[in-house]
Amino acid sequence: MKFTPAKPPLTGETLESLTARLREHGEPAYRAKQILEWLYKKRARSWDDMTNLSKSLRAWLADTFELLPLSLVHGKQSLDVTDKLLLELTDRSLIETVIIRAPQEGVGLEHSRKTICISTQVGCAMGCKFCASGLAGLKRDLNAGEIVAQLLHVCYREDARTPRARQELVSFDNIVVMGMGEPLANYEAITTALKITNADWGLGFGARRITLSTSGLVPNILKLADEPLGIRLAISLHGATDEVRTQIMPVNKAYPLAKLIPAIKAFSEKHGRMVTLEFILIEDVNDSLDQAEKLRDIAADVHAHVNLIPYNTVEGLPWKRPSIARQEAFANILRSARVSVTLRREKGHDIEAACGQLRLKTEKEREAANA
Ligand code: SF4
Repeated sequence: MKFTPAKPPLTGETLESLTARLREHGEPAYRAKQILEWLYKKRARSWDDMTNLSKSLRAWLADTFELLPLSLVHGKQSLDVTDKLLLELTDRSLIETVIIRAPQEGVGLEHSRKTICISTQVGCAMGCKFCASGLAGLKRDLNAGEIVAQLLHVCYREDARTPRARQELVSFDNIVVMGMGEPLANYEAITTALKITNADWGLGFGARRITLSTSGLVPNILKLADEPLGIRLAISLHGATDEVRTQIMPVNKAYPLAKLIPAIKAFSEKHGRMVTLEFILIEDVNDSLDQAEKLRDIAADVHAHVNLIPYNTVEGLPWKRPSIARQEAFANILRSARVSVTLRREKGHDIEAACGQLRLKTEKEREAANA
């Protein structure tokens, strides 16, 4: 489901595409670099900030592009381990972007390591049973500019807090493409956005610090394996047998484990890097010791890291998180086979299941207000 905005966002332009647009308008090619430098390096917040461009060029830019295609609707002012930003797009659609801070000893929260979790669609069509983002289905895809703009918006926000951000261009350490939406169902937009994020004329952010998470769209995992992007891959596995996985992830009907596992292997062989298997632990759904043994075997086979995420309750959904004793017993089965495993403990990190709740709540409030 594509959306064509009245004006395309500047954040969706590559150096090549912007150069071509400017040439058509009779401008020299070097203007494109100047404009992107204003956007990403000098953090221009209005066209008039771009003082080395003529007034007529600034007027043309304002008529042709949206500078930043989103604005903040809701975001706490106080620093917390997890900051959820509710952002509104030009058609009033809502998306969530999350800043996750890793508290470090002796370092204030504003200087701790930050991971930014970005969305790629408004809603999601994949229908994973445990996820708030999928509850209302897919509204539309984000375009590349809307994806990049989430990161730029975080830069604006964090620049004001941490002076180091301006020197280092971006103020965060990792990007995870794990927010609302299935990124590989919006393939062109996410790959273009990641090119812009990584390019030296863009945000200049290292590809190795970007992780894309997919529910398992096998053909596009294989396509991504052929891209020279150099990003990391995570798979939302959440079930170690077809029976359990299909129960909570409808995508498994089209791409069962017999298709998914070879695709994971193909990606990690091409990129020479460990893939991460994400596994949300849900009581009496996928937390049996038999599931742990099957997960251990898959992880050993594809040489993957396993990230165990105790389920975070979602309003309106019946699932629960297992007891700590059960979580530990599950993790120990993997540990005892020397599988690399992380069991998340920190509060507020359980973003995957919880993602989308803020948007749903706000949309319901809007509907009630309009009724
Ligand atoms: S977990 Fe991801 S892929 Fe599944 S419904 Fe939620 S957003 Fe979509």
